Amino acid sequence: MAENHLWQDLGLPGRVELNALMQTRFTALKTKNAGDMKWKKFFYRQLCEQAEVLICKSPSCANCCDYSVCFGPET
Ligand code: SF4
Repeated sequence: MAENHLWQDLGLPGRVELNALMQTRFTALKTKNAGDMKWKKFFYRQLCEQAEVLICKSPSCANCCDYSVCFGPET
């Protein structure tokens, strides 16, 4: 619930280590995040879909103006 990237909030060295953790411990979720969305964005998107509350500006990530917010490098 903190404001940084999840790997930072978890005290990990980087996203690579978080991805490895997800692959090892939460394989189904890692597989589901095939597009390598930022993890917090991915979790919120999952919760929104389960609740059938769509807050995204587009039904498709590929066509969304917020694509760079949800994907891409984390520094
Ligand atoms: S890229 Fe757009 S549609 Fe995809 S999760 Fe982000 S805000 Fe939602």
